[in-house]
Amino acid sequence: MARDILVTGGGTGIGRAVARHFARQGDRVTVTGRRLGPLKELADETGARALVCDHTEPDQLTRLLGELPEGIDVLVNNAGGNTGFDADGRTDLAAYARDFRANLDANLITAALTTKALEDRLAEGGAVVHIGSIAADQGAGSYGAAKAGLATWNISLSQELGPRGVTANVVAPGYIADTEFFRDKLTAERRDQLVAATATGRAGTPDDIAATVAFLASPAARHITGQVLHVNGGAHTTR
Ligand code: NDP
Repeated sequence: MARDILVTGGGTGIGRAVARHFARQGDRVTVTGRRLGPLKELADETGARALVCDHTEPDQLTRLLGELPEGIDVLVNNAGGNTGFDADGRTDLAAYARDFRANLDANLITAALTTKALEDRLAEGGAVVHIGSIAADQGAGSYGAAKAGLATWNISLSQELGPRGVTANVVAPGYIADTEFFRDKLTAERRDQLVAATATGRAGTPDDIAATVAFLASPAARHITGQVLHVNGGAHTTR
């Protein structure tokens, strides 16, 4: 049966692959983001609905609710990224506070606000999947801290939603190619280092992540909740 899926940040990279995966399965997909262009392209390709929303903004989320179906079966909190790539290089304390908060906003507040806005609409038996990061276990400053916070907050979310049969999990990617994540900041040398850190000897792909998200949202995964599932080719292991 077709389900209603919301993928935040669904116009590019991992979110786009997740949206395509669900659309191919025959689900009804809505994608959001701040730029209409990439969303529209995906909508034209897949039949998904494209809605502009900045998920750090409560007012925009409230407006988004009016556009969404009454029931959401799968919420994918994918919007985010390392806002440190956009920092202007200022090093005073005010700039530090601004830059630190930007990562918390982009990666933690987006997921928390979106889930709060939608909690009454999450359908019984549904799933919430957040996109975390290997950075939560490896540092990366305020970005890693935000992704670690996301994973910890998800534990209480899973406890709140569990009685309704709704699961809540984090998929934590390692290095994933073919996204806008690194802007133009990824040198060939750094890329080689990231690939060399894997046991599989390759970069991850957005489809690797999409398949894992789809599994967590599937009937096969109804007893998996409150977890972080790592998809990184062995670049970080949990034992
Ligand atoms: P992209 O930059 O391609 O995708 C991020 C998407 O999120 C964009 O479509 C962007 O669109 C959207 N977005 C960002 N902020 C907001 C916001 N405030 N409101 C709405 N949409 C927003 O990179 P990825 O696909 O790689 O990133 C997806 C997720 O994967 C992120 O959470 C990232 O942290 C995580 N990740 C990525 C890794 C990688 O190696 N690529 C590794 C580990 C984790 P727009 O700018 O139009 O809003």
